[in-house]
Amino acid sequence: MGQVFIKNAAFVVSMDAENTVFTGGSVLVEGDKIKAVGKVDPKLVKPGAEVINARGKYVLPGLVNTHVHTSQQLGRGLGDDVNLLTWLHERIWPYESNLTKSDSYVSTLLTGLELIRSGVTSFAEPGGQYVPAMAKAVKELGLRGKLAKSSMDEGEGLPAKWQKTTKQELDEQEEDFKKYNNTANGRVKVWFGLRTIFNNSDKLIQKSKALADKYKTGLHMHVAEVKDEIEYTKARYGVGTVTHLNDLGVLGPNLLAVHTVWLTNAEVDMFAQHDVKVSHNPAAAMRVLGFAKVPRMLKKGICVTIGTDGAPSSNHMDMIDEMWLTSLIHKGWRLDPTVMKAQEILTMATKNGARALLDEGLYGSLTPGMKADLILINPKSASMLPLHDPIANLVTAMHASNVESTMCDGKWLMKNRKILTVNEADILLEAQERADAIRRRAGIELPARFPVQ
Ligand SMILES: [Zn+2]
Repeated sequence: MGQVFIKNAAFVVSMDAENTVFTGGSVLVEGDKIKAVGKVDPKLVKPGAEVINARGKYVLPGLVNTHVHTSQQLGRGLGDDVNLLTWLHERIWPYESNLTKSDSYVSTLLTGLELIRSGVTSFAEPGGQYVPAMAKAVKELGLRGKLAKSSMDEGEGLPAKWQKTTKQELDEQEEDFKKYNNTANGRVKVWFGLRTIFNNSDKLIQKSKALADKYKTGLHMHVAEVKDEIEYTKARYGVGTVTHLNDLGVLGPNLLAVHTVWLTNAEVDMFAQHDVKVSHNPAAAMRVLGFAKVPRMLKKGICVTIGTDGAPSSNHMDMIDEMWLTSLIHKGWRLDPTVMKAQEILTMATKNGARALLDEGLYGSLTPGMKADLILINPKSASMLPLHDPIANLVTAMHASNVESTMCDGKWLMKNRKILTVNEADILLEAQERADAIRRRAGIELPARFPVQ
């Protein structure tokens, strides 16, 4: 098995149980696993190993993005400066329902480039329409992805091609699971997906949870996302979304609840009691959703993670930006700069992410025996130096451009800023062409921002 020996790093930020940082440390990768970390015995390094001198650099576990809509990437810029209903009915539904299978494939490739360039090695996609196309792209990119179909069996105003029965939605997901789960050396996993309570019947919600349990996989759902949602569930069920999900018996450790902004304190306790995982998406929250009770959730022991949401919602599919925003947003609304410390945010973006994606112990920290999912950070830039507090700088000063190399499953996806698994230039070209074609096909017209000559 081939080896990669990353030696003499300024900081190996292991994110192990004690959050050990090895200064002047090394990481030895053998095959798809980490063999040794810290002071590595040179006798373990075989002749022919690839040796990387990481002097002055950091080694970190690959970041985990727990909520990114790969199928919306070609719609970046379609949702700026409009209210939620315009966003949904006039921009996103027409866009997404006009996406073809091959558009979804290219959209996922484009997302993957942005993820790799910002140090992400593992992500969860909440649901596009074409799991096979997404699985193909993830396999080629070399990333780890939890893929789901966006399932909807009710709700007003849905595009005609999305009007499906509960059974159709469940059958399609089960078929995707059987065909694609655990493919690409285990990097592709198929989850069950629920769009939102506006579009999901109780029957679909309960049966999706039952199938996720049966297949020992995850369930990904937007939960208590906007204020209107709580008004809707209160009018329909007499309680908020989370209490209703609790009444349905679907809260559990394999539920990844996204946004989770509009929760009462009692509902936060329900999450803690059932070990529900949370994906916090600060940019989307700041734009339209509101402020989730993340400091309270962490205090209660809830596994809170970070996600970027989709490109038409938050534009940057960049976990490094989201870490920074996570550190700011809660200090701001609580008027307390001591909450959400850098180490806590790094934990959310690595170890907690792995746990939420049901991969605890597989990656998320640099410890021997774990998968070799890691990134090299070069801090030598005007925006990241000096390093008085090397851990804080990772959250408060780093940019995606500081990520020099990204490895997943023991394979370099990017080395010295060059993408190695797919043809980046071709993808960029095709992405723009397809995005224009989808917009025209969907009849989406954006108001002029400037006088056209
Ligand atoms: Zn979302």
